[in-house]
Amino acid sequence: MKVLKFGGTSVGSPTRMKEVHQIITRDNDQKIIVLSAVSGTTNILVNLTKEFADQNKDKIKDILDQLYKKYEIFIQELYSTEHYHTKGKEVIDHYFKELRKLVSVPYKSGAEKAIVVQGELISTNLFINFLWEKEESANIISAFDFVFLNDQQEPDLRKIEEKLREILKEQKDHKFLVTQGFICQNNAGEIDNLKRGGSDYSATLIGAAIGADESQIWTDIDGMHNNDPRIVENTFPIAQLSFEEAGELAYFGAKILHPNCIIPAQQRNVPVRIKNTLDPDAKGTLITNEKNPDSVKAIAVKDGITAIKIKSSRMILAYGFLRKVFEVFEKYKTPIDMITTSEIAVSVTIDDAKNLKEIIEEISPYGFVEVDKNQSIICVVGDFVAERKGVGSSIFTAMDEIPVRMISYGGSKNNISLLIDSNYKKEALVSLNKTLFGL
Ligand code: ADP
Ligand code: ASP
Ligand code: MG
Repeated sequence: MKVLKFGGTSVGSPTRMKEVHQIITRDNDQKIIVLSAVSGTTNILVNLTKEFADQNKDKIKDILDQLYKKYEIFIQELYSTEHYHTKGKEVIDHYFKELRKLVSVPYKSGAEKAIVVQGELISTNLFINFLWEKEESANIISAFDFVFLNDQQEPDLRKIEEKLREILKEQKDHKFLVTQGFICQNNAGEIDNLKRGGSDYSATLIGAAIGADESQIWTDIDGMHNNDPRIVENTFPIAQLSFEEAGELAYFGAKILHPNCIIPAQQRNVPVRIKNTLDPDAKGTLITNEKNPDSVKAIAVKDGITAIKIKSSRMILAYGFLRKVFEVFEKYKTPIDMITTSEIAVSVTIDDAKNLKEIIEEISPYGFVEVDKNQSIICVVGDFVAERKGVGSSIFTAMDEIPVRMISYGGSKNNISLLIDSNYKKEALVSLNKTLFGL
């Protein structure tokens, strides 16, 4: 069985939804279809949560009225029979009633969670009705019933596997099982989500849980490109990547994939294929455990990084210093991305600066602390360290005119990371594209 995930743009209009139907009926296999919210909806719902927190009643009403109008037009164009126009209307009326209810109570922290997932509930319910109108053998399964988070608020793959097995047994007669990306249930039994872009993660979790033939990520571009196409011209799709390479690219900013979505695929060795809904015959990118050494594959960039330097003469010949420093980050559940050390200082980067003030306060007794905000990590990915000569010097040549704050080389075979001020981001990406790919 295959899992096919369609992102926001891929379900972004009635025409696109009809194309999704064409894509899933290209062969006769049974499939799990994971859908995002219609493009733009989650952003609007996030805005709604902000107005809700501020108890801005007029704005709340405007946002909901406008969004409702958009869906009224959507269902008019999606269905061709009166019966299904009525069904579509019932779907949007139901979920907008729910939304209005959710924002009509006094605001409480955490109330956002039930609001932001409504987009996926709407898109999947509109789509299942479309499949029924087309007389397809299809059913909807609720992600809330099988995508569970554990105590660390991470997806619990074993539990997902167990629940999904039961559900699939009951649903075995349906050719298409449609479910929501992004949505999950946390360990307190509440509705929760897998963070922005989380539908990719839903797809690879489901693929891993059922041991799928592959998990396909259908999006609006013809695969993973060698550089960020939003910033650099002249990029090209990469035909094949290893799990390690794709995992690094996703984690270090390639927006096309959720940062964690390669983890379950790699754990259970389920290939991930990125495909273009706008050009279904384009080859796309296949991600497997196959390695292809000696090549630089791609560059990604992650913004919003904070660099922290701790300088201390006590570090000289001291052991236990790094542990004390890292314990502070652990205490505030703040992951460190890059680390570089010298005999008298250590620099680390974080992308979650929520607890920065507390972290600085607690590491200050160990040395003099310096903080640089507005940094970007540029990550060059391939299978090259040690095996391929000259990659390092090509990167340095490309960065000749750009001040580099930190370099991380050799941490893994697949990644060379550079930390720069975000103002130099475009210049750095363009220059690396020229030097490493000749473009
Ligand atoms: P979806 O809504 O289908 O999940 P996203 O917007 O999340 O789609 O991801 C697709 C977008 O990711 C592309 O349109 C492209 O602008 C952006 N992107 C960023 N980096 C890359 C990359 N290296 N390769 C391809 N696309 C990328
Ligand atoms: N709708 C969610 C978002 O916009 C999840 C997703 O599209 O992957 O972040
Ligand atoms: Mg996405």
